[in-house]
Amino acid sequence: MASLLVRNARIHGAGPVDVEVREGRIAAVSGSAAAVPADPATPVIDAGGGLLLPTLVDGHCHPDKTTWGTPWVSRTSAETLEDLILSDVALQVSQETSVRERSRDLFAAYVAAGARGVRAHVDVAPVYGLDNIRGVADAAADLDGALHAEIVAFPQLGVMRTPGTAALLRDALDAGATIVGGIDPGGIDGDLHGQLDVVFGLATERDVDVDIHLHDGGEHGVEQVREIIRRTRAAGWERRVTIGHAFCYSDCDDALLAELGEATAAAGITLATCALGDAPVMPVQRLRELGVRVVLGSDGVRDAWSPFGNGDMLDRTHLLAWSTGARTDADLEACLDVAAHAGAELVGLESADLRVGSPADFMIVAAEVPAQAVIDRPTPQYVVRAGRVVARDGALTAIPATL
Ligand SMILES: [Zn+2]
Repeated sequence: MASLLVRNARIHGAGPVDVEVREGRIAAVSGSAAAVPADPATPVIDAGGGLLLPTLVDGHCHPDKTTWGTPWVSRTSAETLEDLILSDVALQVSQETSVRERSRDLFAAYVAAGARGVRAHVDVAPVYGLDNIRGVADAAADLDGALHAEIVAFPQLGVMRTPGTAALLRDALDAGATIVGGIDPGGIDGDLHGQLDVVFGLATERDVDVDIHLHDGGEHGVEQVREIIRRTRAAGWERRVTIGHAFCYSDCDDALLAELGEATAAAGITLATCALGDAPVMPVQRLRELGVRVVLGSDGVRDAWSPFGNGDMLDRTHLLAWSTGARTDADLEACLDVAAHAGAELVGLESADLRVGSPADFMIVAAEVPAQAVIDRPTPQYVVRAGRVVARDGALTAIPATL
């Protein structure tokens, strides 16, 4: 018996077809009117000729920092990275709404906009203790399976320069985090080996993956990438290490990019880009050609760092396409592949590739083909997660609207 029947939908621009869902998976795709629900109680969606798209994954976000759902915050100008870090701490400690509530509201926005998973970098520092980790873990649980959330214990204020952080990172792995994070071992901590000793030491001790922010550009950044590659291979941590932002790949000439990209791919290191404003965006397509897995994230959403971001990964896919000069349908669909399938692989979700047998994780949007959806960024008419409708017309359906 089908648990859901979607009528009059299109897949990859072709159709119309009916899509039958059973036990959380796509059980059958057939010509319109061929599929009849065996049980009149089976819920039926009329897609109205809408396009099925895979649901998307945010591979790098910071829900604990967000002001989502709270009054507007007017930001002041910031001259240095230190200014930004200090304003982040000041804004977080001034929030009257809990991490759990703000994260939950943001997660709800993600789901309503068609996301199925996130990798959340959550601040771990003496000023917060483990409160942010617990808040985001609770928020993810509040979503009742509508959103798969992974939590990275993220040392925003540095590891070596902020005493007590290394011990908190270990504790965070007992409080909901499943990945150990790092941040500019050179630029923030000024101690490349000291921070990486802690991060890789914890990773191997606790058998967890690694995800390191690396803003440092040029040779300084490349030197750190090389050391992360060396340690990844030495530990046997291939396919278990991610570098976020990785602006230094944008500073490489063709020869260095080819060499560094091949070494990155050989070590199975994932790169996460967020297609941020005036920050450099790594050469995504070239890196993919070299065999590097690249995922897409939002980074901060409406936090002290930036007023931008909205939890809409189709919108973020549009920004990636815009910033990398996408033109052809193939270019645009490659960006969608980054946000959907590479992201899913990163967070351990099966690919939602809309084939029979695949997870029933999709959204229905008003577009003729996937490339158009990347440009138009329509609000999903429906979002289906593991075979159940979790959002409709931009609002959650299956999940309680409030705590
Ligand atoms: Zn980040």
